[in-house]
Amino acid sequence: MVDVIIIGNGPAGVSAAIYIQRAGLKSLIIGKDTGSLAKAEKIENYYGFVNPISGKKLVSSGVLQAKRLGATYIKDEVTGLNYDGNFIVSTKNRSFTSKSVLIATGTVKNKPKIKGLKEFEGRGVSYCAVCDGFFYRGKDVAVVGNSDYALHEAKELLPLVKSLTLLTNGNNLNTNIPSKINVNFKKILSIEGGDTAEYINFDDGSAMNFDGIFIAIGSASSSDLAKKIGAEIEKDNIIVDKNLQTNIEGLFAAGDCTGGMLQISKAIYEGSKAGTEIIKFIRKNN
Ligand SMILES: Cc1cc2nc3c(=O)[nH]c(=O)nc-3n(C[C@H](O)[C@H](O)[C@H](O)COP(=O)(O)OP(=O)(O)OC[C@H]3O[C@@H](n4cnc5c(N)ncnc54)[C@H](O)[C@@H]3O)c2cc1C
Repeated sequence: MVDVIIIGNGPAGVSAAIYIQRAGLKSLIIGKDTGSLAKAEKIENYYGFVNPISGKKLVSSGVLQAKRLGATYIKDEVTGLNYDGNFIVSTKNRSFTSKSVLIATGTVKNKPKIKGLKEFEGRGVSYCAVCDGFFYRGKDVAVVGNSDYALHEAKELLPLVKSLTLLTNGNNLNTNIPSKINVNFKKILSIEGGDTAEYINFDDGSAMNFDGIFIAIGSASSSDLAKKIGAEIEKDNIIVDKNLQTNIEGLFAAGDCTGGMLQISKAIYEGSKAGTEIIKFIRKNN
C-alpha cells in the first residue's frame, strides 16, 4: 500500500508527487499518456523558459523529476476507483491500494455526438456501471465503446443483466471481449424512446431495443472516476473545497478536472496545494 495514488501524469499530478515525495511520503503516479499537452507544440506563456517548450518535453521532464525524487510511475490506464477503508485503484490487469488518491486526469473527453444522447441522460443513458448497473438487473443493456474501459464497464454489468451488447459505433475493437458479451459494429444514428431510452437506430436502417445504455468511450474521464466513488461533480468538473479535497475524505482533485482556467500554471498550483494537503491528511491519520 502506498500513501497516495495519483491518477494522471500531467502538470497537476506530477506537481503533487514532487511535494509528497519531498515530505518523505510515497506516491504512485499512474498515467496513460501525455494528456492535453501532447498537442501543444510550443508553450511560451509558462514561467521560466526563454524559448517556447513543447508540451511533450514539459511532461516527460516533469515525470523524470518526480521519479528522481523517488515517486513510482506506471504507464497504465485507470478503469476503476473504489473505497473499502482504503482506496482501490484498478487498471486493466491490476489493482492498487492507498491511503489517499488524487484525481488529476485533465478535462473530460468529448462525448460521442449521438442524437438523443443528451436528452436521455439519467433516463436510460448512464456513464457509470458501478453506480447505475443495479437499476438494470435482468434487463437488456448496451455499452457504447470499443476500449479496455468499455470492457471494464461491461464486466461490471455482466453478472447483473439479462443480455449485454457492446456497441462499437462503427469502430474496430481495441480489446479482447469475452464470448458472453455480444458485439455490434454498426454506426449509431440515434437513441430514441419515450419517458426513458428504449431503442437505438443504426445507419443500416436496423434498430435494437435496450433498457439501459452505458457510455464508455475511450478511457475513464475524471468525472467517470469521480462518479464511481461518489464524488460530487458539476458540469463534468469535480467539486473540491479550498484544500482541493472532494466531498470524500482523502480523495483530492487538481488541474483541468476541477474546471476554471485550463492552463498549466493553474494545474501546477492546484497539484502543489493538493500535495501539501495530502501530506497533512496522511500525517493526521497515521
Ligand atoms: C493543444 C493545446 C495547447 C495548449 N497550450 C497551452 C499553453 O500554451 N499554455 C498553457 O498554460 N496551457 C496550455 N494548454 C492547456 C494545458 O495543456 C492544460 O491546462 C494542462 O495540461 C492541465 O494539466 P492537468 O495535469 O490538469 O491535465 P493533463 O495535462 O491533461 O494531464 C492529464 C493526465 O491524466 C492522464 N489520464 C487521463 N485519464 C486517465 C486514466 N483513465 N488513467 C490513467 N491516466 C489518465 C493523462 O494520461 C495525463 O497524463 C493547452 C492545451 C491544449 C489541448
